[in-house]
Amino acid sequence: MPERWTGPTAAQRRAQAKIADALASVSLCLPGSVTTRSYRCGKPNCACHADLPRLHGPYIQWTRRVDGKTVHTNLTEEQLADYQQLFDNARRLRELVGQLEALTLQAISSNSHSE
Ligand SMILES: [Zn+2]
Repeated sequence: MPERWTGPTAAQRRAQAKIADALASVSLCLPGSVTTRSYRCGKPNCACHADLPRLHGPYIQWTRRVDGKTVHTNLTEEQLADYQQLFDNARRLRELVGQLEALTLQAISSNSHSE
């Protein structure tokens, strides 16, 4: 029988508390991702197909899932500037969740190896 997990060590509890403090300091978060893209359209005579092509855009596109469907929203430069912190907060939140998961994996594996 493998040994039962006895919980995190003191050091792991301290690391968890540090992550919890950081999590508590995260403010509003926007879901999804932002990409900037330029593209060629379907009209063969358009400037985007010329020898020196002038592509359409760049368009700032915010992509996210809403009710299981992917939704694209075009943002202006000003909107992106206004929302950038909210996207950054979401990324920070994902980083912190990743740290918490890694710590938890370490906590359960270090326990099962200690004899
Ligand atoms: Zn075009």
